[in-house]
Amino acid sequence: MIECQNGIHIKGTNFWLDARRKVDFSFISHAHIDHAVRHKEILTTKETARLYEHRFGRAKFNILEYNQPKRFDSAYFVTHHAHGSKFEKPKSKDGIKVELFPSGHILGGAQILLEIEGVRIVYTGDLKLRKCLTAKKAEVKKCDILIMESTFGLPRYIFPDRKEIIDQITEFVDQALSFGQVPIFLAYSLGKAQEIMKILGLRGYKTSVHQAIFKIAKIYEKFGVKFKNYEHYQAEDLEGKVLIVPPYVRGSRMIKKIPKKRVAILTGWAIDSGCKDWFGADEAFPLSDHADFSELMEYTKLAEPQKIYTVHGIPEFPDFLRKEGFDAEPFKESTKVTKTFSKELLLNYVLFIRD
Ligand SMILES: [Zn+2]
Repeated sequence: MIECQNGIHIKGTNFWLDARRKVDFSFISHAHIDHAVRHKEILTTKETARLYEHRFGRAKFNILEYNQPKRFDSAYFVTHHAHGSKFEKPKSKDGIKVELFPSGHILGGAQILLEIEGVRIVYTGDLKLRKCLTAKKAEVKKCDILIMESTFGLPRYIFPDRKEIIDQITEFVDQALSFGQVPIFLAYSLGKAQEIMKILGLRGYKTSVHQAIFKIAKIYEKFGVKFKNYEHYQAEDLEGKVLIVPPYVRGSRMIKKIPKKRVAILTGWAIDSGCKDWFGADEAFPLSDHADFSELMEYTKLAEPQKIYTVHGIPEFPDFLRKEGFDAEPFKESTKVTKTFSKELLLNYVLFIRD
């Protein structure tokens, strides 16, 4: 019923989910670059549409609000059906019932529920179960087939409580400021950066943010996620402020010319020893936009699927799901990452794709 090649495709239909090559019609779960490609028509939330336009230019959107189901008619079925089980022959008369619901990943991030002939398919996109300040909390819906991300799908990736992480972050900031140093956070420009802006702003810290982050924060504010005590980065005006920049800026002149500084990287990969050294950072804190291993397991128990496919991440994750009694397998194109991360792989993940 489902195939995975350059994205996920529901066989017999025009429905693609996070297609990675140009197609006629694709759902886009959120506006990170590994999920956003130019298509003829894009099904997504209004927030993701705006962020997508900001990053990739104009497109034709089919907007759905969270939790507002919509039926797509026979026009979304292709004429030649694959043969095989009933799953592979959706009948056009009933169409496909579609509902988007929050993924908790970043602003506008959505999961999708498709109902075809009574079969409920959920695709999570990138996911986080724990609450944060800048994205709606994720929901879990019961389904028959679950296609889920597995970025942190190994038992060693268990993040501490959020409060504990934030306490460590504020301690890092207080210490740096007390020594007259500029505390600098390396944080992905869409999602992570806004979350740390919000956290620090609410605690009364003043932040100076890189242009890429500033522009995206303005879009967040249009959708009601407001920030306190922040301003656009100005080289000569950093005293007493916390600087927030995307990770790729670490080696730039902008950072090099700051004489007294303490640098921290914010990423789930902080769990791996060596992470901070690879980023040239003094500290690494596991503030992540993704579910950790226990959240992924919790999700599957709540969703109660008969079949699980994993994508985007660790191919060994289904082994752990099978131990819990699930019928689970990775889609073949899952990235071959794991137990031994290379520095290049990790940098690529955090800098450009999956932090
Ligand atoms: Zn993402």
